[in-house]
Amino acid sequence: MSHEDHTVPPSDPALRIKAIETLMVERGVIDPGAVAEIVDIFQNKLGPRIGAKVVARAWADQDFKRRLLANGTEALKELDVSGLQGEAMIVLENTPQVHNVIVCTLCSCYPWTVLGLPPTWYKSAPYRSRIVIEPRAVLAEFGLKIGDDREVRVYDSNAEIRYMVLPMRPDATEGWTEEKLVELVTRDSMIGTGIPLLPNQF
Ligand code: FE
Repeated sequence: MSHEDHTVPPSDPALRIKAIETLMVERGVIDPGAVAEIVDIFQNKLGPRIGAKVVARAWADQDFKRRLLANGTEALKELDVSGLQGEAMIVLENTPQVHNVIVCTLCSCYPWTVLGLPPTWYKSAPYRSRIVIEPRAVLAEFGLKIGDDREVRVYDSNAEIRYMVLPMRPDATEGWTEEKLVELVTRDSMIGTGIPLLPNQF
């Protein structure tokens, strides 16, 4: 899904950055590919790696998982996740009965301390409104079919509370080390718009 948000003009800082970027590209100071690469690193690589470590630890260590679900903010400190500015972190466990997905209907609150920069679609008006109204249809557009026997719960983030999803551990990963499990955790699986990679996709 790649809805662009045309209902609200970009913020003033976003317009200024775009103008500067355009000038720098035109004058040959920077390569547009390099800019895309840097954004990709923060959206997909560096940022979500922290969350992936949290998920892999929870999969590998039942006691940690219990603490994480009971008090996400405190449990994250064990992994030296810092940067929370007073917001509480609540970790939502996906189960065979329940699939969780997160959104910020008001703006773009995102668990950036564990996931880095939010993807563009997360901030888009269509995602923010439709995931609440028709979550199953939106998830299907992400390629995620949720069976009718499974409840879908949508959690609305805000300035006080940030959510992240603890996806289900893929089958056939018994005995895997935490370091190996990390590789299966995708950004979207922690937003709830995707699931982890399968062992044969890794
Ligand atoms: Fe927000």
